[in-house]
Formats: sequence, C-alpha cells, structure tokens
Amino acid sequence: MKLIIASNNAHKLEEIRAILGGEFEEILSLRESGIEHETIEDGSTFAANAEKKAREIMELSGCCALADDSGLCVDVLGGAPGIYSARYAGEHGNDAANRRKLLCELNGKDNRSAHFTCSMALVRPDGSVVTAEGYVYGEIAREEAGEHGFGYDSLFYLPDRGCTMAQLEPEEKNAISHRSNALHALLKKL
Ligand code: IMP
Repeated sequence: MKLIIASNNAHKLEEIRAILGGEFEEILSLRESGIEHETIEDGSTFAANAEKKAREIMELSGCCALADDSGLCVDVLGGAPGIYSARYAGEHGNDAANRRKLLCELNGKDNRSAHFTCSMALVRPDGSVVTAEGYVYGEIAREEAGEHGFGYDSLFYLPDRGCTMAQLEPEEKNAISHRSNALHALLKKL
C-alpha cells in the first residue's frame, strides 16, 4: 500500500520513512505524488488540524494519507502559543519573531515549564482514521542557545540533557522528538 505525506518537508519525510517504512510499499511527499494543495488549518486542536490535512489528501489521491500538526505549549501561558506556534508573533513562519515574543511574554515569570506536542493522523481510503500524539517536556530558557533545529528549539531547554533542543545533533533530536514519539505511537496502532 502507498502512503502520501501531507508535506514537502524533507526532514519530516526522512523521519517518517525511517519509522513507518516497513508498513508501506512506498512513502511519497505531496510533490512526489503530483499534488499541489494547501489545507486551511482552522481546527481548534492539533488533532483536528492533522486529521483535516490527511483527509483532504486522501480525498485528492484516493491513497492512505498521513499528516501531522505540532507546536509548543507553555504552562504559565495557558498552553499558548499552541496551535498558533508558527504565527505567534503575527507573520507565519517568522521563527525569530516568535521566539522574541515568547521571551517577552515570559519576562519575570519563574514557571518556565513547557512541552512540544505532535498530533499525527493517518486517513485510509475507506475514510477510517488512526491518530496518535507525542510529547517532549522541558522548560523555556531565558536566552537562546544552540544552532541546530528550527522554530523554538534554541529556547527549549531539556533538564535531563542539560542543553536546549538546538544544541542536540539532528539525530539526537529525532530520537526524542514529539514527532518521533507520535510516529512510534501511531506505528503501534497500525
Ligand atoms: P508544524 O505543525 O510542524 O508545521 O509546526 C508548527 C510550528 O510549531 C513551527 O512553525 C514551530 O514554530 C513549532 N514547532 C513544531 N515542531 C517544532 C520543533 O521540533 N522544534 C521547534 N519548534 C517546533
């Protein structure tokens, strides 16, 4: 069976192929499947957005489709930026502005607990859906550290490692990430 990933992100594809490769004959990106499509992510939860993306791609392709939606949730901010992580400071995908806003919002706050969440949804051609979530817990640092990763990685401090997510090598991050945890949880359900 063929699986289409609702993304063209090379890094995500590599991670998904490594974990789900044994379950499918072929795993293709949107581009590799000849699909050009942008889902409007207007769900109120990570899970709703992931399922919406996967369902639209399943309907366009007639194949199994997998989508994820992820973000950062900060306890003292009531779970913000949450589903708005990519556009916390206004402009979609401006990671540096998002990190600056996060530091501002946490200025003077001692509780820095946070977690990354990832929701995965796999929709089959018969319309059935399998979902799974993955998390990674840590704290928001007071200043940035590390050169790897993207998004909030340079502010996401892992107490048991004694460094930020951006100070881990990519393979080390992949081994503990919310995305990898969600993919392993999904694999168990397939
Ligand atoms: P997406 O759902 O994977 O596109 O992620 C949405 C947003 O959440 C990104 O633009 C980042 O701001 C944040 N985010 C998700 N995953 C990560 C991660 O692994 N590290 C840092 N930030 C992340």
